[in-house]
Amino acid sequence: MVDNPLNHKIEFIRGVGPNKAAALKKELGISQLKDMLDFFPFRYEDRSQILKITDIDDNTNAGLYMIQVINKKKAGRYRGKSLKVSVKDSTGYAELVWMKGIEWVEDKMAAGKRYIIYGKPKIIKDKVSFFHPEFGDKNTMPMGLRPVYPSSENLKRRFINNRFFNRIIEEIIGKTKQHIKENLSGELIQNLSLISKSDAVINMHLPKSFAHIKEAIRRLKFEELFFLQLQILQLKNSRLTSFPGYVFKKNILINKFYKEHLPFELTGAQKKVLRECYENMSKGKQMNRLVQGDVGSGKTIVAFLCMLAAIDHDCQIAFMAPTEVLAEQHFNSIRANAEKINIKVNILTGSTKQKNRKEILKNLLNGTVDILIGTHALIEDSVVFKRLGLVIIDEQHKFGVAQRAKLWRKKSEFYPHVLVMTATPIPRTLALTLYGDLDVSVIDELPSGRKKIITSHRFDNSRLKVFGFIKDKISLGEQVYVVYPLIEESEKKDYKDLMDGYESLKRYFPNTQIGILHGRMKPENKDYEMKRFAEGKSKILVSTTVIEVGVDVPNASVIVIESAERFGLSQLHQLRGRVGRGKAQSYCILMTKYTISSESKERMSAMVETNDGFRIANTDLKMRGPGNMMGTKQSGLLELRFTNLAEDQDMVLKSRELAINTIKKDPNLESKENLIMKSHLKENIKQNINWSRIS
Ligand code: ADP
Ligand code: MG
Repeated sequence: MVDNPLNHKIEFIRGVGPNKAAALKKELGISQLKDMLDFFPFRYEDRSQILKITDIDDNTNAGLYMIQVINKKKAGRYRGKSLKVSVKDSTGYAELVWMKGIEWVEDKMAAGKRYIIYGKPKIIKDKVSFFHPEFGDKNTMPMGLRPVYPSSENLKRRFINNRFFNRIIEEIIGKTKQHIKENLSGELIQNLSLISKSDAVINMHLPKSFAHIKEAIRRLKFEELFFLQLQILQLKNSRLTSFPGYVFKKNILINKFYKEHLPFELTGAQKKVLRECYENMSKGKQMNRLVQGDVGSGKTIVAFLCMLAAIDHDCQIAFMAPTEVLAEQHFNSIRANAEKINIKVNILTGSTKQKNRKEILKNLLNGTVDILIGTHALIEDSVVFKRLGLVIIDEQHKFGVAQRAKLWRKKSEFYPHVLVMTATPIPRTLALTLYGDLDVSVIDELPSGRKKIITSHRFDNSRLKVFGFIKDKISLGEQVYVVYPLIEESEKKDYKDLMDGYESLKRYFPNTQIGILHGRMKPENKDYEMKRFAEGKSKILVSTTVIEVGVDVPNASVIVIESAERFGLSQLHQLRGRVGRGKAQSYCILMTKYTISSESKERMSAMVETNDGFRIANTDLKMRGPGNMMGTKQSGLLELRFTNLAEDQDMVLKSRELAINTIKKDPNLESKENLIMKSHLKENIKQNINWSRIS
């Protein structure tokens, strides 16, 4: 094999050595020269021109200035000590200030001499100041566009700072640039007028202009998206051909339930999604399907009708919910339907008593339990099914990938079919990247007769009016949720706010039954309160976000969200979905204090403007970025380095389209053109997780 400098060890680069190399390996995973090339700057300092002091205003960024020292002044003592150096250029005056390293600076800066400085100016009382600027002369100061690399305190202590990175990367590029391999086919490069891989790498590290950087980023974005899509499509292909599944084609129970017990006519969208699922489960291939449907679109009944298909074939079902309250609720509503046709349902959660648990596990193993509903408890190894044929995961974003992966150990004859249901509508670009290998069904219609929920934003000072409004609704027989935020960091205070709110409601509504629900309560007390509310015995339910997902009380028509500015947009939408489930006109009232950030204002107005979950999700994606949405962080699937899914939607779609074309023409990437892409995938995809098995 030819000696390829890209594979050389970093420690043999001048100025690195074994200690720095060890630190680079430990902190950044860099050990060979090619790793260093792949370590990109996260921003650039513009040192391309000398600026003028007279042009400085409040918005001026860091820049270079050519100055002459007028005089130096030391002031203060001990920790308050500072050095102030008055300087001028041909256009104005400024002051340079140091609080640290004073002796060293004082020594280097001589009155009357000229220097080049780099720093961000501040205007304080009409005076221009630079705090701790870099300084030097034409020979020592870096000029042009200067890349800034991420570093850490740990690294800096070992003198692995930006100066270090700039120096060694320049040297490494000198040694390796002939060896940087192209990894996209000539056809793709031409089609999109991309620059070559080596130009992209060089431009990122040694840029001549911002236009060059932009070209480089465009190329790297496409590359990362394209290879991601290629992998997703290949996985999808291999799953379709290699995982056999149960064949569900009888429909005895389904027909019976449908004809005799279905409580309402299904919507067109529900029927469509059911058909997609049945079709999918009848083919002898394992189903992996995501059902998206806005809150209230009726996912549960669709899930139930899928379960009947499994039971028609002597298979069992695991139904996982993210919380105990939700599991309880699903249990109650599913059992109500199941009893009509003699199906055995059970529930298993963390708080199931040991004795019950034993009994349930026994019945699970001997096949007397058809449907087991529960929380994470279902995926423990001790839970063994006789013949698990279908797994339904509700509100999937609350489950980590690792937890879902455990399900796959529960294989009996085949892997079970998997149906994931989510009410968080995922914007299309994100769905393509996250779930590109899953089949997606969308329930894009609400049951008829639903009225649009009227949402308003009120300030704390109109609370009495809001109370008056609640009173009217209660007198009509309707019910009300009042929700408080609760986050770990401020848990104590949040609980206090919740209790205070509860007390003041009790004072204002002395003759009304008011319930309270929060995470610190014992499960049986939670159940009790939830039940009382569901049965209409309590009229107001004060709670934390434990009611966030799924809870279904059609008679509740008002939800008041306290400190609404502290909730994320998708979460607000989820909460709002707790109402609007019955016949009455429903209301969502967002309470905030008078002064909130402009971002919070944006969220409030997005809620007031639209009821459409997809629009909400898109706005949320734009405002927060994909990293924060629905557990994508924990899933580790979205390590996109150059792409911003909210901003780069066009690029996502383009890369998807080209990946589909490529795979269609040459599924195994074996043509001469495509071989470089095949070998790139092989060499560079380190963690080859089998997504199709864990999503
Ligand atoms: P989600 O999709 O949010 O999980 P649910 O399955 O909880 O929604 O359904 C919301 C409410 O709508 C429930 O009370 C359910 O019984 C009812 N529902 C579901 N489908 C229909 C339908 N086709 N017609 C009337 N009501 C329906
Ligand atoms: Mg639901």
